[in-house]
Formats: sequence, structure tokens, C-alpha cells
Amino acid sequence: MPDGALASAGPIEPHALIEARDLRYGYPGSHGEDALRGASLKVVAGEIVLLRGHSGSGKTTLLCVLSGLLTPSDGSVRIDGVDLGALGPAARTRLRLDRFGFVFQRFALISALRARENVELVLTAGGMPSRDARQHATAQLAALGIGSKAERLPAELSGGEQQRVAIARALAKRPSIVFADEPTSSLDRASGMEAARLLCAVARDEHAAVVIASHDDRIAPLVDRVVEVIDGRCV
Ligand code: ADP
Ligand code: MG
Repeated sequence: MPDGALASAGPIEPHALIEARDLRYGYPGSHGEDALRGASLKVVAGEIVLLRGHSGSGKTTLLCVLSGLLTPSDGSVRIDGVDLGALGPAARTRLRLDRFGFVFQRFALISALRARENVELVLTAGGMPSRDARQHATAQLAALGIGSKAERLPAELSGGEQQRVAIARALAKRPSIVFADEPTSSLDRASGMEAARLLCAVARDEHAAVVIASHDDRIAPLVDRVVEVIDGRCV
């Protein structure tokens, strides 16, 4: 190989798992005040990124567009090289089921199902046989330190414990990307931090990328990179 052939190619860029370019999104009736105004973001496999910004800066909207829940009016999102805009609704739903996990501010657990069943449900929906799903859900809850509470209903758990069930549910199917919207904000300080720490630790173990939207500064030391969201843009 001639000298310099490698040097001239420069460092090899890690493969982008999420590549979002110039995203625009305006809610119906927002009179030109777009929630996203040219947001661009790249996330590589296994990377944990915090989207930090004030309330109203566009973090939730950005998570929804990145995960295909909202369609941008301009710009593009590629997931592992696949353009979300080129997929029909069914294929987009399939991608979400297969590859994404979600953690919401208010946990969004099904109140009539036990902790274990909440986790099992996403596994059986993905086609896992129910016996395997049961074993896997139990192991995932144990990894989050709530194995002994697996048979409780959400109402029988503290907020911090419910969020741990939600994290177990998000990670159980081994997604390549977890989207977490304000995962600490319904919790007291200590349990909020514990939930964020566990989310990052379990995601690292499983090499899942995580995009966390939060105004909580205490999360910053747990992540690989902080991206500021200001007026619908990433800076
Ligand atoms: P953040 O998550 O950073 O607080 P959002 O993405 O929720 O910000 O909101 C960005 C902007 O979009 C804000 O101006 C907000 O008022 C507006 N917005 C959010 N959701 C809706 C909605 N469902 N309908 C109309 N406007 C919305
Ligand atoms: Mg929000």
C-alpha cells in the first residue's frame, strides 16, 4: 500500500445509527412558530446522548420525530441508513417495535398488569414464545434490582420502582436505541438519579444507544455527550 493512503483517508467515522438532518416540525395551528427549526443530530451505536434544554425548546418533539412518531415537514431521519420518510406507516411501526425502546416521564405502565407482565407484553408482541418472555422479563427486572417485586401491580410500587419497571420494559427486547423523555422528572431527587443511573448502566451493558431528553443537569455526568436544544435546534 502506498505511503499516506491511509493517512489521506482521515480517521474512520463511526457508523451513524441515527442521522437526522435539518428537521422542521410545526404543530397544527402553531402559526409559523415551528417547534423544530433545522435540528440535526447524529448518534452512533451504543452512544448515550443527553438532549438538554429549557421547557418548550423542542426536546419532546425531536424525540417523536427521531422515533418516527411524528413526520417532519422538512429534513430527514435515517436509522441505521434507512430513511424513515421512505417507510410506510406499517414498516415504521415494525421498526419501532423491533429496534426502539421508550421510557416516558410518567412511566406509562399498564395498571391492570403486574410488573413482570408489563415487561413480558413487549416481548410476546415481538413474537417471543410466552415461556421465554416470562423468563426474560423476570431476569430483566432482577437486573434493575426489583426482582422481588415482579408480581406487584404498578399501584403497589413506588414511583422510582415503577420507572425501573419501565426501563426494564424498554430494554427487555434488546433495542438498538432507547428514547427516554424526562425520565427523572416525576420522581424525587434520589430515585430520579437512581433511575437515570440504572438506565445508562443497563444500556451500556447491552450496547444500546440512548437518547435522553431532560432539563435535569445531574444526568450530564452519566452520558457520553450533551447536546443543547435551543429554539428547535441542536447546538
Ligand atoms: P420540550 O420537550 O423541550 O419542553 P416540546 O417539544 O414539548 O418542548 O415543545 C416545543 C414547542 O412545541 C413548544 O412551543 C410547545 O408549546 C409546542 N408544542 C408541544 N406539543 C404541542 C402540541 N401537541 N400542540 C401544539 N404545540 C405543541
Ligand atoms: Mg418535553
